[in-house]
Amino acid sequence: MAKILKKVALVQKWASISSGMPSCCIIPLLTVANIFVTLPSMVSRRLEEQIAELKEKLGAVIVAHNYQRPEVQDIADFVGDSLELARRCAEVRAETIVFCGVDFMAETAAILNPDATVLLSAATACCPMAAMIDGDKLREWKNRYPKATVVAYVNTTAEVKAGSDICCTSANAVQVVQSLPNEEILFIPDKHLGHYVSTRVSGKRIILYPGYCIAHVRLRAEEVRLAKEHHPEAKVLVHPECREEVIELADAVLSTSQMVRYAKESPAKTFLIGTEEGLLHRLHKENPGKKFYLLSPRLFCANMKKTRLKSVVETMKLKRNQVTVAEDIRLRAKQALDRMLAVV
Ligand code: SF4
Repeated sequence: MAKILKKVALVQKWASISSGMPSCCIIPLLTVANIFVTLPSMVSRRLEEQIAELKEKLGAVIVAHNYQRPEVQDIADFVGDSLELARRCAEVRAETIVFCGVDFMAETAAILNPDATVLLSAATACCPMAAMIDGDKLREWKNRYPKATVVAYVNTTAEVKAGSDICCTSANAVQVVQSLPNEEILFIPDKHLGHYVSTRVSGKRIILYPGYCIAHVRLRAEEVRLAKEHHPEAKVLVHPECREEVIELADAVLSTSQMVRYAKESPAKTFLIGTEEGLLHRLHKENPGKKFYLLSPRLFCANMKKTRLKSVVETMKLKRNQVTVAEDIRLRAKQALDRMLAVV
């Protein structure tokens, strides 16, 4: 006790000298500062405990996308990109899947695992790109190109998947398209991913639907050039949802989990990252000693940030935001997803 009091007196003296305040003001100020630091971490710990209790009670697994907030990624049983999450949700044996991501991802889980109750951790978390095409628009485009095979990026609603021939993710889009016997491909909805695929496959005529990711298109070539000037030794990794001129400047074009693997295996120590900022948490966590810089502060998806620890607790406590898909749509959408999973 005497030692602690001595330390407190020393801190008080040091703080008083450096701030110019009388030493009697220092302890109350330090106490207030301490409260601001410790209170949020106490609240987080309490929420984490509640999540653990609810998980056991519901027989739940929590899955999170790579773009989720760090604290959400840290309470998840599994963190991954869309392809990994789809595979995991198809295989997992759990009564409840709590999905920390956006609506189409939870729908994909419900399509692939109809025995589980799928709960979306934030009711309004949606994907603006997925909303750029619906069943009617798809029918219109299919009428325009009746001979084309429809490849749907997983960032689509269940209804759109059900009207498509096969799905793909950013991790496997090239292999999926290359595997198809048909020459004419209608690629929906991301024109940037579709264009990237068209530069990597042979013998295909790819028709692009004009959708895009509102976060990835914010990254501009000038920002990449400037970052490369500051870090000439760095490897540039970008997502295929980025603009063509950005992709041209990259060392590698990868899905989020592919970026994590690339960074681990690469001898490079510095990386410039062109995808949503949430991935930096995993990159830092799994690659201590390596440096990662986001190519633009605007690489931010507001929908991916709607999930917080509190919303996970409330979702589980109230068993709310259940995602269901009508059986006839589910079966047709599952066929498109199963065809993709059979390719890679
Ligand atoms: S990052 Fe882009 S594609 Fe992903 S959920 Fe957000 S808007 Fe949709």
